[in-house]
Amino acid sequence: MVQNPGQQGGQITVNAEYLQRIKVFSEGNEIENCDFRAWLKNYAPDDIDDVVKALSQKYFALIDCKECGNCCRVLELEFTEPELRTIAKSMEQSIDEFKKRFVVEGLVKPCPALKGNLCSIYEGRPDVCRSYPHLEKPDFIFRLYGVLDNIAICPIAFNAFEELKAKVKWPKYRARRSRRMREIETKGDEA
Ligand code: SF4
Ligand code: SF4
Repeated sequence: MVQNPGQQGGQITVNAEYLQRIKVFSEGNEIENCDFRAWLKNYAPDDIDDVVKALSQKYFALIDCKECGNCCRVLELEFTEPELRTIAKSMEQSIDEFKKRFVVEGLVKPCPALKGNLCSIYEGRPDVCRSYPHLEKPDFIFRLYGVLDNIAICPIAFNAFEELKAKVKWPKYRARRSRRMREIETKGDEA
Protein backbone atom coordinates (compact mmCIF):
# COMPACT_ATOMS: atom_id res chain seq x y z
CA MET A 1 0.00 0.00 0.00
CA VAL A 2 1.06 3.59 -0.39
CA GLN A 3 2.32 4.60 3.00
CA ASN A 4 1.06 7.77 4.53
CA PRO A 5 2.75 10.11 6.98
CA GLY A 6 -0.27 9.80 9.27
CA GLN A 7 -0.45 6.00 9.10
CA GLN A 8 -0.60 4.40 12.53
CA GLY A 9 -1.24 0.85 13.65
CA GLY A 10 -2.14 -0.30 10.16
CA GLN A 11 -4.78 2.40 9.74
CA ILE A 12 -4.39 4.64 6.71
CA THR A 13 -5.00 8.30 7.33
CA VAL A 14 -6.50 9.96 4.30
CA ASN A 15 -5.84 13.62 3.65
CA ALA A 16 -5.56 15.86 0.61
CA GLU A 17 -1.90 14.99 0.11
CA TYR A 18 -2.60 11.27 0.20
CA LEU A 19 -5.45 11.62 -2.30
CA GLN A 20 -3.18 13.59 -4.61
CA ARG A 21 -0.47 10.95 -4.36
CA ILE A 22 -2.72 8.04 -5.28
CA LYS A 23 -4.13 10.08 -8.17
CA VAL A 24 -0.68 10.89 -9.56
CA PHE A 25 0.56 7.36 -8.97
CA SER A 26 -2.47 5.73 -10.62
CA GLU A 27 -2.31 8.01 -13.64
CA GLY A 28 1.43 7.40 -14.01
CA ASN A 29 0.88 3.67 -13.64
CA GLU A 30 -1.74 3.42 -16.37
CA ILE A 31 0.27 1.10 -18.63
CA GLU A 32 0.97 -1.35 -15.82
CA ASN A 33 -2.65 -1.31 -14.70
CA CYS A 34 -3.95 -1.93 -18.22
CA ASP A 35 -1.46 -4.79 -18.55
CA PHE A 36 -2.72 -6.29 -15.28
CA ARG A 37 -6.33 -5.84 -16.42
CA ALA A 38 -5.58 -7.76 -19.63
CA TRP A 39 -3.90 -10.55 -17.64
CA LEU A 40 -6.82 -10.79 -15.24
CA LYS A 41 -9.25 -11.23 -18.12
CA ASN A 42 -7.48 -14.46 -19.04
CA TYR A 43 -5.94 -15.78 -15.85
CA ALA A 44 -7.94 -14.56 -12.86
CA PRO A 45 -8.60 -17.37 -10.38
CA ASP A 46 -12.12 -18.78 -10.16
CA ASP A 47 -12.63 -17.20 -6.75
CA ILE A 48 -11.61 -13.70 -7.88
CA ASP A 49 -14.86 -12.14 -6.62
CA ASP A 50 -14.20 -13.53 -3.13
CA VAL A 51 -10.55 -12.39 -3.20
CA VAL A 52 -11.55 -8.85 -4.20
CA LYS A 53 -14.38 -8.75 -1.66
CA ALA A 54 -11.95 -9.72 1.12
CA LEU A 55 -9.53 -6.97 0.04
CA SER A 56 -12.36 -4.46 -0.04
CA GLN A 57 -13.38 -5.39 3.50
CA LYS A 58 -9.76 -5.22 4.65
CA TYR A 59 -9.31 -1.68 3.37
CA PHE A 60 -12.74 -0.49 4.50
CA ALA A 61 -11.55 -1.47 7.99
CA LEU A 62 -8.26 0.43 7.56
CA ILE A 63 -9.62 3.59 5.93
CA ASP A 64 -12.20 5.92 7.41
CA CYS A 65 -14.49 7.27 4.68
CA LYS A 66 -15.37 10.13 7.02
CA GLU A 67 -11.81 11.44 6.56
CA CYS A 68 -12.12 11.25 2.80
CA GLY A 69 -15.37 11.93 0.93
CA ASN A 70 -13.42 12.05 -2.32
CA CYS A 71 -15.93 9.98 -4.31
CA CYS A 72 -18.76 12.37 -3.39
CA ARG A 73 -16.66 15.37 -4.45
CA VAL A 74 -15.08 14.04 -7.62
CA LEU A 75 -17.46 11.60 -9.30
CA GLU A 76 -20.15 12.64 -11.75
CA LEU A 77 -23.15 10.75 -10.44
CA GLU A 78 -26.22 9.62 -12.32
CA PHE A 79 -28.97 9.22 -9.76
CA THR A 80 -32.40 7.74 -10.45
CA GLU A 81 -35.42 10.03 -10.21
CA PRO A 82 -36.43 8.65 -6.77
CA GLU A 83 -32.84 9.14 -5.55
CA LEU A 84 -32.83 12.73 -6.79
CA ARG A 85 -36.13 13.30 -4.98
CA THR A 86 -34.68 11.89 -1.76
CA ILE A 87 -31.64 14.19 -1.91
CA ALA A 88 -33.79 17.21 -2.89
CA LYS A 89 -36.17 16.52 0.00
CA SER A 90 -33.28 16.24 2.46
CA MET A 91 -32.18 19.67 1.32
CA GLU A 92 -35.71 21.02 1.62
CA GLN A 93 -35.88 21.82 -2.07
CA SER A 94 -38.43 20.96 -4.73
CA ILE A 95 -37.23 18.44 -7.29
CA ASP A 96 -37.44 21.09 -10.01
CA GLU A 97 -35.41 23.58 -8.02
CA PHE A 98 -32.86 20.90 -7.17
CA LYS A 99 -32.44 19.80 -10.78
CA LYS A 100 -32.04 23.36 -11.94
CA ARG A 101 -29.28 24.00 -9.42
CA PHE A 102 -27.37 20.74 -9.31
CA VAL A 103 -28.09 18.48 -12.30
CA VAL A 104 -26.15 19.12 -15.51
CA GLU A 105 -26.84 16.86 -18.47
CA GLY A 106 -28.25 14.22 -16.12
CA LEU A 107 -25.24 14.26 -13.81
CA VAL A 108 -24.59 15.64 -10.33
CA LYS A 109 -21.09 16.85 -9.38
CA PRO A 110 -20.17 17.46 -6.68
CA CYS A 111 -23.02 15.96 -4.68
CA PRO A 112 -24.75 18.74 -2.73
CA ALA A 113 -25.62 16.29 0.06
CA LEU A 114 -21.94 16.25 1.04
CA LYS A 115 -21.24 18.43 4.07
CA GLY A 116 -17.52 18.59 4.75
CA ASN A 117 -16.55 14.96 4.30
CA LEU A 118 -19.89 13.63 5.54
CA CYS A 119 -23.03 12.56 3.70
CA SER A 120 -25.94 14.49 5.17
CA ILE A 121 -28.41 11.79 4.08
CA TYR A 122 -26.23 8.84 5.01
CA GLU A 123 -29.02 6.50 6.16
CA GLY A 124 -31.02 7.15 3.01
CA ARG A 125 -28.18 7.47 0.54
CA PRO A 126 -28.66 5.95 -2.94
CA ASP A 127 -27.65 2.38 -3.77
CA VAL A 128 -24.81 3.54 -6.01
CA CYS A 129 -23.30 5.30 -2.99
CA ARG A 130 -23.74 2.26 -0.75
CA SER A 131 -21.85 -0.06 -3.06
CA TYR A 132 -19.05 2.31 -4.14
CA PRO A 133 -16.23 1.49 -5.04
CA HIS A 134 -18.16 -1.60 -6.17
CA LEU A 135 -15.56 -4.17 -5.17
CA GLU A 136 -18.01 -6.42 -3.37
CA LYS A 137 -20.36 -6.96 -6.30
CA PRO A 138 -20.19 -10.08 -8.51
CA ASP A 139 -18.44 -10.25 -11.88
CA PHE A 140 -15.39 -8.17 -10.98
CA ILE A 141 -13.68 -9.31 -14.17
CA PHE A 142 -16.39 -7.72 -16.30
CA ARG A 143 -16.16 -4.38 -14.52
CA LEU A 144 -12.43 -3.71 -14.78
CA TYR A 145 -12.67 -0.48 -16.77
CA GLY A 146 -14.71 1.06 -13.97
CA VAL A 147 -12.26 -0.25 -11.38
CA LEU A 148 -9.36 1.42 -13.20
CA ASP A 149 -11.25 4.72 -13.07
CA ASN A 150 -11.88 4.37 -9.36
CA ILE A 151 -8.34 3.58 -8.22
CA ALA A 152 -7.24 7.16 -8.91
CA ILE A 153 -10.11 8.46 -6.75
CA CYS A 154 -10.71 6.03 -3.93
CA PRO A 155 -8.02 4.95 -1.44
CA ILE A 156 -9.90 1.70 -0.77
CA ALA A 157 -10.02 0.78 -4.45
CA PHE A 158 -6.41 1.89 -4.93
CA ASN A 159 -4.96 -0.21 -2.12
CA ALA A 160 -7.15 -3.23 -2.89
CA PHE A 161 -6.11 -3.17 -6.55
CA GLU A 162 -2.41 -2.84 -5.70
CA GLU A 163 -2.57 -5.74 -3.24
CA LEU A 164 -4.58 -7.81 -5.72
CA LYS A 165 -1.53 -7.89 -8.03
CA ALA A 166 0.40 -9.81 -5.40
CA LYS A 167 -2.56 -11.86 -4.15
CA VAL A 168 -3.25 -13.43 -7.54
CA LYS A 169 0.49 -13.86 -8.18
CA TRP A 170 0.56 -11.74 -11.30
CA PRO A 171 3.86 -12.89 -12.88
CA LYS A 172 4.97 -9.36 -13.71
CA TYR A 173 4.18 -8.02 -10.26
CA ARG A 174 7.69 -8.22 -8.82
CA ALA A 175 9.37 -6.92 -11.93
CA ARG A 176 6.86 -4.16 -12.41
CA ARG A 177 6.45 -3.12 -8.81
CA SER A 178 7.93 0.00 -9.89
CA ARG A 179 10.61 2.31 -8.76
CA ARG A 180 7.87 4.98 -8.71
CA MET A 181 5.86 3.05 -6.13
CA ARG A 182 8.89 2.78 -3.90
CA GLU A 183 9.59 6.47 -4.39
CA ILE A 184 6.08 7.38 -3.29
CA GLU A 185 6.33 5.14 -0.22
CA THR A 186 9.69 6.65 0.70
CA LYS A 187 8.35 10.15 0.21
CA GLY A 188 5.45 9.32 2.52
CA ASP A 189 7.76 7.93 5.18
CA GLU A 190 10.04 10.96 5.01
CA ALA A 191 7.29 13.60 5.09
S1 SF4 B 1 -25.71 11.06 -1.49
FE1 SF4 B 1 -24.20 11.07 0.16
S2 SF4 B 1 -22.89 9.27 -0.25
FE2 SF4 B 1 -24.03 9.73 -2.14
S3 SF4 B 1 -22.66 11.07 -3.34
FE3 SF4 B 1 -24.03 12.39 -2.13
S4 SF4 B 1 -22.88 12.84 -0.25
FE4 SF4 B 1 -21.91 11.04 -1.23
S1 SF4 C 1 -15.50 5.07 -0.71
FE1 SF4 C 1 -13.37 5.56 -1.22
S2 SF4 C 1 -13.42 7.63 -2.15
FE2 SF4 C 1 -15.39 7.28 -1.10
S3 SF4 C 1 -15.11 8.20 0.93
FE3 SF4 C 1 -14.59 6.01 1.12
S4 SF4 C 1 -12.37 5.89 0.78
FE4 SF4 C 1 -13.06 7.90 0.03
